[in-house]
Amino acid sequence: KREWPRPAECRVMTIANQKGGVGKTTTSVNLAASLAMHGAQVLVIDLDPQGNASTALGVEHHADVPSIYDVLIDDMPLADIVVPAPELPNLHVAPATLHLAGAEIELVSKVARELRLRRALDAFDKSRFDYVLIDSPPSLGLLTVNALVGGNELLIPIQCEYYALEGLGQLLNTVDLVKSHLNPGLNVSTILLTMYDARTRLAAQVADEVRSHFGEIVLSTVIPRSVRVSEAPSYGQSVMTYDPGSSGALAYNEAASEMAHRGAAE
Ligand code: ADP
Ligand code: MG
Repeated sequence: KREWPRPAECRVMTIANQKGGVGKTTTSVNLAASLAMHGAQVLVIDLDPQGNASTALGVEHHADVPSIYDVLIDDMPLADIVVPAPELPNLHVAPATLHLAGAEIELVSKVARELRLRRALDAFDKSRFDYVLIDSPPSLGLLTVNALVGGNELLIPIQCEYYALEGLGQLLNTVDLVKSHLNPGLNVSTILLTMYDARTRLAAQVADEVRSHFGEIVLSTVIPRSVRVSEAPSYGQSVMTYDPGSSGALAYNEAASEMAHRGAAE
């Protein structure tokens, strides 16, 4: 595989949208795998108690596994929980277990509760990674706030269907609050249109609306609906290795290439 340009400094990208089922996890996992296949060192941090990103990348995340919960709640160093993903040598995962479901509540009484992930990342040697992708849960609670404070960039996946833009204002308000109080460096750098169904006019309308509203931060690549994309997680693989020739894998490759070539936008 041809190598893509690698960033001068590690890009920490948070993937967030408080709506469930819009493709956050699928996007995190497949962009990570694609970047890794093109020469980058990539870490995926699973910040969703469901642990879907951990499952999809084939890493253990039963209750006894040291996980991001231990990092957020018990100050375990991030390096102590990072494990390799079986599918690619330069792809790593910080897994989530069900314990993380309790963290949303337990964080409330912690000192600097919004900064726990940030501090763990600051103490972590990121120089060995080109990208850290943080997959976040479907809410605007403390876990997502930790994800927003931890990142330098925000990638918002938007599902091409009715109500796609509903809730986006609320997300962007949260981003503004985070920027003014907690993480001035957060840049809403990327929007990715997901689950595009070329047969419907609605999908095209949603895509047009998102593009006219957000302009060039919207990647030109659109991710189509593809059965292979939804099958891959049950094999503990990204679609990039499960079926590299599928339309979903090709699209995620294109999107990852755009991301890599755009670099960390201002
Ligand atoms: P989120 O993390 O935002 O909740 P997911 O990435 O888990 O969303 O996606 C929700 C569901 O849609 C999953 O079952 C996933 O496999 C499926 N899915 C995501 N993207 C696609 C796609 N491009 N084509 C088909 N199914 C998809
Ligand atoms: Mg998810």
